[in-house]
Amino acid sequence: MSKSNTTTCCYCGVGCGIVVNKDAQNNITVAGDENHPVNRGLLCSKGMNLHYTVNDKSDRLLYPQMRYNKNMPLQRVSWDTALERTAAVFKALIDKHGPDSVAFYASGQCLTEEYYIVNKLIKGFIGSNNIDTNSRLCMSSAVVGYKMSLGEDSVPISYDDIELADCIFVAGANPAWCHPILWRRVEAAKAKNPDLKIIVSDPRRTQTCALADLHLQINPGTDITLHHAIANCLITDGQTDSSFIHQHTNGFEIYQENVLNTSIAEAAAICGITENDIRTAASFIGHAKGFLTMWTMGLNQSVVGTNKNLSLINLNLITGHIGKPGSGPFSLTGQPNAMGGREVGGLSNLLPAHRNLTSEADRNEVETFWKIPLGTIDAKPGLTATEMFDELNSGKLKAIWILCTNPLISLPDVRTAEAGLKKARFVVVQDISNKVETLKYADVVLPAAAWAEKEGTMTNAGRYISHLSKVVDAPEEALPDAEIICRFAKKMGYPGFDFSNPSEIYLEHAALTAGTNIDISGLNYEILKEKRAVQWPYPQNAPPAGTARLFTDFKFHTADKKANIHSFSDENLSERLSPERPLILTTGRIRDQWHTRSKTGKVTKLNQHLSETFLEINPADATARNINDGDLIEVASARGEVRVKAKYSSDIKVGVVFMPMHWGLINNYDLHRVNNLTNNLVDPVSKEPDFKYSAVEVSLYEKP
Ligand code: SF4
Repeated sequence: MSKSNTTTCCYCGVGCGIVVNKDAQNNITVAGDENHPVNRGLLCSKGMNLHYTVNDKSDRLLYPQMRYNKNMPLQRVSWDTALERTAAVFKALIDKHGPDSVAFYASGQCLTEEYYIVNKLIKGFIGSNNIDTNSRLCMSSAVVGYKMSLGEDSVPISYDDIELADCIFVAGANPAWCHPILWRRVEAAKAKNPDLKIIVSDPRRTQTCALADLHLQINPGTDITLHHAIANCLITDGQTDSSFIHQHTNGFEIYQENVLNTSIAEAAAICGITENDIRTAASFIGHAKGFLTMWTMGLNQSVVGTNKNLSLINLNLITGHIGKPGSGPFSLTGQPNAMGGREVGGLSNLLPAHRNLTSEADRNEVETFWKIPLGTIDAKPGLTATEMFDELNSGKLKAIWILCTNPLISLPDVRTAEAGLKKARFVVVQDISNKVETLKYADVVLPAAAWAEKEGTMTNAGRYISHLSKVVDAPEEALPDAEIICRFAKKMGYPGFDFSNPSEIYLEHAALTAGTNIDISGLNYEILKEKRAVQWPYPQNAPPAGTARLFTDFKFHTADKKANIHSFSDENLSERLSPERPLILTTGRIRDQWHTRSKTGKVTKLNQHLSETFLEINPADATARNINDGDLIEVASARGEVRVKAKYSSDIKVGVVFMPMHWGLINNYDLHRVNNLTNNLVDPVSKEPDFKYSAVEVSLYEKP
């Protein structure tokens, strides 16, 4: 006999609903949830193979482990021993060096309850803001973009707006591979409405471009120039919404002067496309009744990521396409719960419910709620993701607790990050996999429960909150992440962590949002299980499905309720190319792998898509270097090198090369990880790294 449970996919930010069936041997199978408003029964290749990752426990961490000094091997210990040692070390470091000597590095794959509890622990009780997550590597530029433009980190649209749009501008994203089920909706919308115009801007001709009416194959780093040039055409052709601009925005006059400064001909030359391309894009947008902008890492992962975001959101604002059916800026989150992490304030510069760390009133509100003395929460932001590893290198940060992420593959300039981890006084790794590279440097290893082994919630790219059921027990002594953190907090002697189940944590988090712009105080697990997914805000007495669309009254969350149109230069501040390193390296995802492959890497079917890493290179660049398709090559930057096979592709521009972000988790990981090559530049405001632009050279690999 089998038993069905509903849950949510743990991979990308689309957030598809899944029905899980379990047999008498506790093996599970999965199917798309037909009642889920996000995917309506569909699943992509990753989602439909999720059961393999649960049924195969051969790579799982099963017991807590510890080493007493850096030269000893890890040994199995009890939970009490592991957590008491960790608490003793943390207390000693905090006493001697202050609370900022420790840090937590978490993940956009953590459940909201887990995020909430870690954030409460470090900000409210340890007294440091040193919590950041790998979401810093993917979404922080969008967070800042929304805050600066709309006054709040709020994705204003609903997925249903896809069917209502008649122009969709996909900028720096490949949703056909990276957000497949969302893209199925775009494909269906296009099939139904051939007048729906799709514009894609990307230096690579990706699968997404197959559906595009217009592919703008721009040079890397020229997005702002492109957006400004489109704005120039819209203004010149009288296709802006003057009344919306006048009544609901600030800053248009300076912006207008700025974007009219560069001619369309100059912009086309900078972007590497034709003037006609730019004018066509503007014409599609100008004639649209519903206009959606959709973007992800191509804009976010940039040294000018904030400005790229602002320049795209500006296109929605000057055309008045926001708060209306089929219209609005829509950032696609990479991870399944990047948005949930932002809601609980799980980044080094945030407080719960999008409160401001720098506001004393906001800090006091949280302190009162957490029943801690006023003044406990520091006003100074903590260390961001890359800063944590820098400060391990400098010695200022002594201890780091890494949960649910694999920074030795995913951080930029990763050899420097690895050097930091080597120098760390104390490293805790909390994970499901016994293969993650960080284990090499762990003083304490804590085995965590995986997807389907724990209960909680996540928020997807469209503000839809959905529930995840516990379907099977975690193997051996593995525990849910929230329980691990609560047990540790109690070992530290802190009150406020006595939860008997995740639902109680969720209710506490929900109560703390009351009265804020993201109020979900009307929500609980029962409602989520029944509705499958609801969009925040969801205050008491909210409509059953929550709030589909924000800003329908055109009142934004700024002081004067007007949206801000920002002006800035279109300069790209990325690493400079040189005669020694004349190629631009851009990195990203492939269709069937997820992050550093700790789950997808063990699924045979998924490995069949692309079984090993590679460097995508235009044949013109390859032949100029005597490189044939499939040759073993060395790719080198100022930081390091990798050895991979060359993959010819005329879909990538001359002068640009691409490598997937996923590979590691194997012997000789240092040979394959692309982040040996990437640089450590970050956007000055969002602190998001510049993964999409590093100067490299490529040569045939010759054995020494
Ligand atoms: Fe999972 Fe994303 Fe695929 Fe949906 S589209 S099944 S959320 S990986």
